Amino acid sequence: MMSGDWRLARRLEAVGVSPTLAVMMEAKALRERGVDVIDFGPGEPDFDTPANIKQAAVAALANNQTHYTDTGGILDLRRAIAARYGNGSGGAWGPEEVITGCGGKNVLFLISMALLEPGDRVGIFAPYWVSFPEQVRLCGAEPVFTAAREDDGFVPRARDLEAHRGLKAIIVNSPCNPSGAVFPPEEVERLAAFAARAGCWLISDETYDTFHYGPGKFASFAAQHDRLRERLILVNSLSKTYAMTGWRVGYALGPRPLIDALRKIQSHDATHTSSISQAAAVEALRGPQDSVAAMREEYRRRRDELVQSLNRIRGITCMLPPGSFYVFPNVTEAMAALGCATSIDFGRRLMAEIGVATVPGEAFGMPGFVRLSYALGLDRIRAGVERLQALLGPREAR
Ligand code: PLP
Repeated sequence: MMSGDWRLARRLEAVGVSPTLAVMMEAKALRERGVDVIDFGPGEPDFDTPANIKQAAVAALANNQTHYTDTGGILDLRRAIAARYGNGSGGAWGPEEVITGCGGKNVLFLISMALLEPGDRVGIFAPYWVSFPEQVRLCGAEPVFTAAREDDGFVPRARDLEAHRGLKAIIVNSPCNPSGAVFPPEEVERLAAFAARAGCWLISDETYDTFHYGPGKFASFAAQHDRLRERLILVNSLSKTYAMTGWRVGYALGPRPLIDALRKIQSHDATHTSSISQAAAVEALRGPQDSVAAMREEYRRRRDELVQSLNRIRGITCMLPPGSFYVFPNVTEAMAALGCATSIDFGRRLMAEIGVATVPGEAFGMPGFVRLSYALGLDRIRAGVERLQALLGPREAR
């Protein structure tokens, strides 16, 4: 892009702004015009950060923990993170194999910066979180997409990766944003076995690991540590688990040489995440966990009701996703009923005609679907669904 006598770096040419952010801006503009927008867009908890965590931040301020910290984060925090994976889940990382940064997004970007260069190919399953391909592209590498199937619960299948040769890394995300899919343990094993055979990195983003509604226990890639050894990177964040999006604390666990490389980049970038946020994060990880369980139960209630009521609307079919706080219904028939050629058009119609904000499937590499977050109160969820039903009609009337 040219502007006067200067131009932006070429690496930006392949990258767009975050589509989820674009929806937020559109909803905001409508709200400012006085429209009551029911916003299913946001990817952040509507809960407040638990009181014990906020108190730890206040104490950190009072104790003048306001100086630069270690680039990777304070030792106490890295120990607390390592301990989270050391208790029988198969992981075995020490604090030197942990780095913290300004949210999971920042840590994922550091990883792309450390590993990827032009010509590298990175396997990503669609539907995918919006920033995975863009971060890969920003590093000059090429995302290679494989679609997970709706009739398979959007679970990525390792066998579908066999078609791709020479992948430098694969990025996986369970529980998944946007589909809510959670990988069963046997698929976690197969994906790890694929990465081991292919000699590629496996980057597992487990940001939503505490929001798994069963059946069964969440299968972390931590259990694949022995199989993958130097090729496994786990990424996680405190943003969703502890309703701490604004605090900006995310982390990665991986082999020491890679973590050292991430430290090197961070030392020339953000330096570290806020010292106060780090102190709060130690309390989040070591303190009582009942608020996490309470949030999970509330999300489960909302998910159950939202999915049930969406399936009563003409033209919408929605699977019950086992994890995260999103549903990802198929809206192809509803799109046809409204004469919309794309889910982007469909989303715009919902926004303009009934003041309901959703994120179109195109943002996640899966047209024909929309993402609805249920990180909003049940009363708002009910009101939003009523508006959708008033526009599209009840399923029974078909
Ligand atoms: N990974 C996934 C799948 C996400 O959905 C998000 C946020 O929406 C993140 C990572 C990053 O979150 P944060 O940077 O707030 O830790």
